[in-house]
Order: sequence, then C-alpha cells, then structure tokens
Amino acid sequence: MVRIFNAGVLGACIRSLLLANRALSYTELSDERLKQIALDPADFDIHNSNGLLAPLLITRVPGTEGQVVAQNHFVNFFSSHLPLWQVSWQNSTGTTPATGSRELPFQNIIFKREPQWCIDRPGTCGLLTLVAHYDSKIAPEGFIGATDSAAPCAMLMYTAKTIDAQLTKLWEGMEASGERSNVGVQIVLLDGEEAFVTWTATDSLYGSRALTTEWENSPLPGVATYHDPMDQISLFVLLDLLGSAGPKVPSYFQSTHWAYRRMAQIEKRMRELGALEATPMSAFLSDHDKQPSAFTKSWVSDDHEPFMHKGVPILHIITTPFPLVWHTMDDDGDHLDMPTVHDWAKITVAFTMEWMDLMNVSSTAMT
Ligand SMILES: [Zn+2]
Repeated sequence: MVRIFNAGVLGACIRSLLLANRALSYTELSDERLKQIALDPADFDIHNSNGLLAPLLITRVPGTEGQVVAQNHFVNFFSSHLPLWQVSWQNSTGTTPATGSRELPFQNIIFKREPQWCIDRPGTCGLLTLVAHYDSKIAPEGFIGATDSAAPCAMLMYTAKTIDAQLTKLWEGMEASGERSNVGVQIVLLDGEEAFVTWTATDSLYGSRALTTEWENSPLPGVATYHDPMDQISLFVLLDLLGSAGPKVPSYFQSTHWAYRRMAQIEKRMRELGALEATPMSAFLSDHDKQPSAFTKSWVSDDHEPFMHKGVPILHIITTPFPLVWHTMDDDGDHLDMPTVHDWAKITVAFTMEWMDLMNVSSTAMT
C-alpha cells in the first residue's frame, strides 16, 4: 500500500510539473491559423443523417435502443474516418430508482490518439481529456437533450476530425527530428450522467463513477510515467449544456483558471478576426479577468466530480444559468442556435490545437 501511495504522490508531482511546463510552452495559434479553422455546416445540420449531430438527436436512455444507435454512430464515425484513434469501452451495470431490479448497461466509450512512441510504451503520454455525456434523460418521455449533451458530443467528434491529420504531421516531424513530446489526447463519451428520478449521489453520474473506479484501480506498468489512467489526465475538459444562444460560462476553479483564460483568449481573438458566427451581448467565456478572491467553493454538479475528488484538474465548460430549454421537451434540434453551436466547436478545436502544439504544423494538414 505504501509503495502505491508513494507512486501516486510521485505521479501527482509529475503531473504538476507537466502542467506547469505546458503553461510555459503553450504556443498560441497565429491569426492566420485561427482563421483557417473551417467548419462544414453539414456536420451540424440537424436534418443531415450523414452529419455528426443529426444521428444523436434521438432519445439515448441507457438500456434502450437509442443508446445503441448513439454508440454505433460514434464507433462507425471513428472506424470509418479516424481509424488511428484507439477505441476502448468501459462497461458497468447498475440499478436505478426508476427501473427497479433490472440491471441497466452503462457504457463509456474512449477514443484515444497518441504518438507511436507512447503506444509502444503505455502510460508515458499525458492526455488532454475532452469529455461529454451522450445519454439522455429518461423524463419527460421523448426528451432529446440537444444541448444536454448531443451537441457537445458532436463538437468533440468534429474536434477529432479537424486535428487528426495535423497530429499525424506533428508526430512525423517529431519522429524525424528526434524532439519528441509525450502529449496525447482522448475523447471520453460518458454514459449515465442523468438522474433517473432525482439527482442524488447514487442516482446520477453512473458512467463517470464507474470509470473513475476502474481507472484508479488499473495501475500502469512500472516503467510508465504515470501511475494509472486517472493520473494520465493532464486536463479534464467537460462540455455540457452548450448550444443555446447567449451562453455564459464562468471560470469555476482557480486551479485551472489559467486554462480557462487560454480558451477565453481564443474566443476573443477569433471574434475579433471575424472567425466566429454568433453576435452575443458578451463573450461566452466572460471571466477572463476573474480575480483570485472572486473564486468561491461552489461548482455545478456534473461528470467531472468523481474525477475532481481524485485530484484531476478540471475545466468545466457549462453555462450558468442553464439554457432556458434545460430538461424540457424544447431541448431539441430546432431550438439549438446554430451560430453558437458552430462557435463552440471552433473554440474547442482551437483550444485543442494549442494544447497539442499544432501551431507549426503545415496548414495543408488542416481539414
Ligand atoms: Zn441533463
């Protein structure tokens, strides 16, 4: 036990060092690169069954057909278009207050992209971890959850699609020069976020609780840099309740405010460059200048909690106040504000590109 504890402490120290290192070496995208982040509206067209979003605008309750349809959409997209992303599943079952003794399946899906040298030596890359939940709430019957969180899932798929070829180029260049960095990215699509009856510690976050339990009990090989997959998460970026017009996303955590500022700066620059579409009264990310004394100990309960309680650094991109359509039948495709959806997708891409240090990769790798 003592040895594991020490390894965990060492892992935490390494993570802190890497975070600090990242903060220092983080390369901003140029104006030109920000303007090159294109978006095909067909990906988010709510009527385009070949797009990223439309197939998710169905009910996606665990244990129902919709859950499987959503899963197939993710897996087919990655296997057809992005085969270099390693897919893994983390499955559990559980009962809920609404479904009696029947065991429901909760199935998280993880898509990971690492350079070859980290694939060869598992547990040596830190992982930017981009997260959204794909399940939808059981009630009201027929609830779609377009902002909650079909649209965020589609934004993450779009992010993977946009950076894929650039990552290949980046790592080819590193292989050639010998200057390798151990930075990867994973997209975690979580199941069972929603409560089935009332939000409590046991009736909510079914998928994220199961995933944290499994990851913290899956030690990596002794030669790995990190102790376990939890320790490998360099930043946990959770998107939720995004897609309504006029969003306001506060900075919730002082410890990751530096990352929030990077994302806010991206939004500001892209808006000034005319690279975004919405015309909000104020920035989506308006807490850029939040002072340390203004941080409280409150946050919005969500999938990050089981990770946060284990010391994982969190950037929570969720609107406060919640969208007006929140948990109503109006949270559907027709009520999404498409310029806002597009803007969040582009901001997420730019943030990921900066984190992965894609500034100096040939722009011909942009898709
Ligand atoms: Zn919800």
